[in-house]
Amino acid sequence: MSFFAFTRNTLTASSKREAIRLLAKSPTYSLRSPALVFSSLKRSTPFSTSARASYSVKSWFSKILSSKDPKTQEKQHLKELFHPLSKSPIKAILEKGKMIQTHGICPVCAEEDAKKNPEPYQKAIETGIPAPYHGHRPVFECPDCGYPTHCSEEHWRNDHKHKEICAELRMANIDEHDLRSGRRLPEFEFPPAQAAEIVANLSNWDTLFYTRNFSTIRNDQAARHVTKILTYPITIGATLSPFSPFTVGKSFTSEGVRSMTALHATIREHELSKSDQGLASIIKPVRIFILGARSEAMFPALAYLQLSHLLPNTMLNIYFVGPECIPSKDQTQNTIAVSSRLVLKYNKGLFHDLIWSFVPFDPYTDIFFMFNPGVGHPLARDSWAPTISKLLETKCAIFATGFSHPDTAEDVRTLKENYKDKLDWLLEPRENPFTSLKKDFALNDLRIWAQANMNIYGFRGKLYEISSK
Ligand SMILES: [Zn+2]
Ligand SMILES: [Zn+2]
Repeated sequence: MSFFAFTRNTLTASSKREAIRLLAKSPTYSLRSPALVFSSLKRSTPFSTSARASYSVKSWFSKILSSKDPKTQEKQHLKELFHPLSKSPIKAILEKGKMIQTHGICPVCAEEDAKKNPEPYQKAIETGIPAPYHGHRPVFECPDCGYPTHCSEEHWRNDHKHKEICAELRMANIDEHDLRSGRRLPEFEFPPAQAAEIVANLSNWDTLFYTRNFSTIRNDQAARHVTKILTYPITIGATLSPFSPFTVGKSFTSEGVRSMTALHATIREHELSKSDQGLASIIKPVRIFILGARSEAMFPALAYLQLSHLLPNTMLNIYFVGPECIPSKDQTQNTIAVSSRLVLKYNKGLFHDLIWSFVPFDPYTDIFFMFNPGVGHPLARDSWAPTISKLLETKCAIFATGFSHPDTAEDVRTLKENYKDKLDWLLEPRENPFTSLKKDFALNDLRIWAQANMNIYGFRGKLYEISSK
């Protein structure tokens, strides 16, 4: 199948091994290292006040304004934002550099180590527990990307593979300084609801931004900043919408069409209830469950309003469920009514433990999302198992994403192996047009990167046909 032939990700065999050992995500297994690994994927959002701290950009801003050619301005702007991590004016970035120097690896040393001691590395693939690293720490900063990438200038010079990723790291460096520069961030001023007759085009980010009038997103950098957040609500919207890009080109399987038709019938009912009092009194909200929620639960409500705007007449209740689920503002508040049609509910705990508070389930109103869950990761697989079993019993549609091709392939393989006769596929694994455009690098191995929600797939507990024979 073409999905498994993807090669766009830069993971080599050895870095895939590293990825596998590093990227455990699980509802129960709160790994210290993945939090560290993809700290930016998890916690830091431009909405946190600390992220906006302390760095004055007045000097370069005035310089930019004095230059006339927009391309020169842009170049100058990016150049000014770049800093080696050890010389960053932002404390958090300085600390990140130190963390990489203390816990990271030198790729050249690591490859030498793996050649000498292949066994622990082999074992790491099976168990998910990292192989001990015997090399030197990366104390040498690459002058081009500013990250501490190698143990010495010599190993940096000898490592031609680094050049493949260096430009991406430089971009990540510049993006991070930009987000924390203290400048006003107009790209996060999202557009309000639109007139009912204007339908958002959900083909990809460009068409969405254009048809939804995201006029403040003027360059790729702004798009990277906002898609890191919007990937979550928009992926949900794009899946659930009657104008889903997955309907075009028949990405949904026939079982997928069946499940989505049920949900669309409810969405249609909500539309009709606007002019039908009787109907309005009996409709139930569409319930969207986000399982294993971490950073998704911490985004401000305005991010989820964008989902609400894609389904303008639908009453939505979003349930964030997970042991690390904390609401964005008030940690004691479990329910936030964002608008008359959008309610956010926060449920700290494991889905299979909390299930009694959500029953009964209804495939016409309920849909589940698991963002980058890692259900196939050796360290997470067992803790997801009881949740998956309960989910399959509900017969509701379940959609999940992966943050890299190997990550997705591993999750899909596990589901296919362990639940072969128990599930129907609704959406074959495919690239998600609403992936985060920002690459997140693993701090303990900069060769590895992830993009939240890069791929998406859907499944559901098998529906047994009533045989007429
Ligand atoms: Zn080295
Ligand atoms: Zn570099």
